[in-house]
Amino acid sequence: MIAQGECGGHPVVYLDNAATTQCPRPVLWALENYWLEQHANVHRGVYCRSSQATMAMEETRQHTAEFLGAASAREIVFTHGTTDGLNLLASAFGDAVLRPGDLVLATEMEHNSNLLPWLEVCRRSGAVVELVPVTDAGELDQEALDRLLEQKPKLLTLCAVSNVLGTVNPLKDIIPRAHAAGTAVAVDAAQALRHGLPAVTDLDCDFLCFSGHKLMGPTGIGVLYGKEEWLERFGPACFGGGMVKELDWPDVTYEEIPGRFEAGTPNLSGIAGLGAALEYLQAVGRKRIAAYEGELLRYAAEKLRAIPGIRVLGDPARRAGVLSLDLPPLSAYDAAMLLDKKGFALRSGRQCADLLHRRLGLSGSLRLSPAFYNTREELDALCQALEEILSVSRRAGIPVGESHG
Ligand code: PMP
Repeated sequence: MIAQGECGGHPVVYLDNAATTQCPRPVLWALENYWLEQHANVHRGVYCRSSQATMAMEETRQHTAEFLGAASAREIVFTHGTTDGLNLLASAFGDAVLRPGDLVLATEMEHNSNLLPWLEVCRRSGAVVELVPVTDAGELDQEALDRLLEQKPKLLTLCAVSNVLGTVNPLKDIIPRAHAAGTAVAVDAAQALRHGLPAVTDLDCDFLCFSGHKLMGPTGIGVLYGKEEWLERFGPACFGGGMVKELDWPDVTYEEIPGRFEAGTPNLSGIAGLGAALEYLQAVGRKRIAAYEGELLRYAAEKLRAIPGIRVLGDPARRAGVLSLDLPPLSAYDAAMLLDKKGFALRSGRQCADLLHRRLGLSGSLRLSPAFYNTREELDALCQALEEILSVSRRAGIPVGESHG
């Protein structure tokens, strides 16, 4: 187990990996090494440490391109995380492409980070956002998607894996249909990269965003991947040092991609940590991780379904990473609080997926998301704890606590 420590006298069982994963030692060592041996600004100094820092950053860019299966490191923009990447993309795409009356498609299962930037940018440009509905099983309604594609949207933005239901969207099937309609595709891969996403060149998505902290890396670092031909069309969305080629006031020429999108000092320690995290995942084996985590999830789903009073939300054909539960009359909030007292760390609430919870008719849910450092024994202990909590709450006649959401 990587997460250590105690909470309320209980060893912590950390099952909130969809929110943030724990950092393994090699990532911590890389961070320590960065701060002790490498800390200096990039792109600015001719001295040794600065050029070493620049080289280290560009090496991680190259490794990230390889990790994603991108054609070139020029397609990798460092961001602060998925939210930041999606905001950058929405702003750049909005400026370059969207005009009044244009259509952008998102889906009803998106995280707010993949809805609000598009809502705002469409408001500003006069474009319209429509949502692909979700079926009762928790999958995207493919017929509705095809009908919406007939309107030739400029962009379809969707998650690879839902952060609530764990639904794995059939991207290899969806992306060619979108392209045939002349629609670009952006993938929110925040929940996907530990679960066997194909190379971006194979997926043929136009854009993809992810966060380092959901991949064993530190917080505050993420990536926006964009096909070179797209990034070349975009102007910068943030302005300042590091992205200017020439300033002959008031005329200005901006750097080539990807530097054009990275104004200011990058999160260099974050980049060092991300590089170490990607290396760590490669060394442990991405297929091995995906297989083990998939097995843990199936095991958990089977055990949880057998507990009276627990409903596992959704029944998608493929699920990865997360399971969300409804346990009426206990609210998700109360369940998470009671579990915390026994040492279990689980997420509760709307999980930044307000639209999906509205579709499910719920004000919140309880989410567990195991990672490869979790075990079957921990899941057994969780199920036992849940059974105890449900039986106590039944005896005490605890009312529905929906107001907690
Ligand atoms: N999209 C999805 C599907 C997510 O699960 C998350 C994180 N919960 C995000 C976007 C936002 O990620 P971050 O907070 O790292 O920017």
